[in-house]
Amino acid sequence: MPSPKDRLASLRAELEDRNPAQPEFHQAAREVLESLAPVFTARPEYAQAGIVERLCEPERQIIFRVPWQDDRGAVHVNRGFRVEFNSALGPYKGGLRFHPSVNLGVVKFLGFEQIFKNALTGLGIGGGKGGSDFDPHGRSDDEVMRFCQSFMTELHRHIGEHTDVPAGDIGVGAREIGYLFGQYRRVTNRWEAGVLTGKGQNWGGSAIRTQATGYGSVLFAAEMLKMRGEDLEGQAAVVSGSGNVAIYTIEKLLRSGAHPLTCSDSAGYVVDEKGIDLELLKQIKEVERGRISEYADRRGASARFVSGGRVWEVPADLAFPSATQNELGEQDALTLVRNGVKAVAEGANMPTTPEAVRVLQEAGAAFGPGKAANAGGVAVSALEMRQNAARDTWAADRVEDELATIMRDIHRVCHETADRYGAPGDYVTGANIAGFERVADAMLAQGLV
Ligand code: GLU
Repeated sequence: MPSPKDRLASLRAELEDRNPAQPEFHQAAREVLESLAPVFTARPEYAQAGIVERLCEPERQIIFRVPWQDDRGAVHVNRGFRVEFNSALGPYKGGLRFHPSVNLGVVKFLGFEQIFKNALTGLGIGGGKGGSDFDPHGRSDDEVMRFCQSFMTELHRHIGEHTDVPAGDIGVGAREIGYLFGQYRRVTNRWEAGVLTGKGQNWGGSAIRTQATGYGSVLFAAEMLKMRGEDLEGQAAVVSGSGNVAIYTIEKLLRSGAHPLTCSDSAGYVVDEKGIDLELLKQIKEVERGRISEYADRRGASARFVSGGRVWEVPADLAFPSATQNELGEQDALTLVRNGVKAVAEGANMPTTPEAVRVLQEAGAAFGPGKAANAGGVAVSALEMRQNAARDTWAADRVEDELATIMRDIHRVCHETADRYGAPGDYVTGANIAGFERVADAMLAQGLV
């Protein structure tokens, strides 16, 4: 019998062989597999049942053509994806990403992460992800609508409230969910609220869903700080990104007495010595759909735009990478450490490279991986499904209280699991093992399927 470590290394090599040219999927799988050796020693039945082999192979992968016409009548063809990764704990659940970088490997990395994240919420949801290489930037509302309609014309065959429940991710917000839901309703002739989450609040959406990922990652950071005898009050924070996650991370930081100093987009970042002006940021991003450089133009002397720069060069106590994968590398981590960073909470999925995670952990910073720290978004999606199933609408206070409880529970289970497996304070190990055990136990109970 090979040792658990050797067995996991050969599983990893096999996965890389079978899935060539999918570097993001390899990276996500490697991080999880590296955490699992102690579990395999403690629970040999997992190896006997081929749990990891099955977990690494999606239950179903759908790739489809998405033809659509732009406003001038020119025809475009994009590629659509839905990877239904694992449904041991509930219907596949996970967002749709519309971005030119989307390919099968990216969707698989996101879907794989989603399995463990969703398990950590404890809310009975499996893992999946989808999207398209469509670029919504610079497209009119009509073009986005036609694209969404064409995308859903195919996707509707594969989803349903008991089967697979998509939501938003990068490039897919309330507007896109609206167009997608409209088309689903039309082609199926079903008013099936629970088929998508992130809906508008007057047609089945949940209060706090828009805010949930950002609020959740700040709640997770607060729990990590509490373990060190500190709180958020007065802490300077760097936040990257300027989408949904970044905006509501900033809102929650401001409400908690912290000082968020930055936000960014693909052109560069803004640093504001007085702290980010939330109303101005929302006006530019949510109302005008503009660029972040406009913030500095309109804010006055306290803010400047740094073209092409990275927020990690701004000294801060806390960091919230909330833009996209691999945006915080080893050099950035060294800079953060030099500036005395205490805690990093991933608002985006896999924004920190493995080398950077090592640097941060070795320096003693608390590091909250995305599958734990950003689980608030999908958790409130699951609460939206619950409201839809009961034809009920919960008040914002109730959803926010439930979110706070869920984030505290996720923190506690990650912390306790890390302790139990001899890696105190290591939230990466804690999240990977705790998420894995929940899925693996369900798979064991359900037999070889
Ligand atoms: N895209 C989000 C995530 O990465 C949310 C998914 C959902 O609500 O289903 O977790």
